[in-house]
Amino acid sequence: MASYFVAHSASLDGVHAVHDRTRCPPACFPRNATEYLGEYRSASQAVTVARLVYATARACICCDPLRLYAPPAATTPLRS
Ligand SMILES: [Zn+2]
Repeated sequence: MASYFVAHSASLDGVHAVHDRTRCPPACFPRNATEYLGEYRSASQAVTVARLVYATARACICCDPLRLYAPPAATTPLRS
């Protein structure tokens, strides 16, 4: 079980990041602008709960090793 927090303010792309407190690097974790979500077994559970409040909640790309719920990588159109 890990402690999860969700960011109050959305990032520029509208995502509310869900952080695993023990895994998230200090430089990435927003210390004063998060709400405690609770103890969960996985980031996916925490994101599900966070989405009850923030529809755009996704796991933080810094602390979710699997990045299952991280925003997809930006893609650029392939040139033909
Ligand atoms: Zn994080």
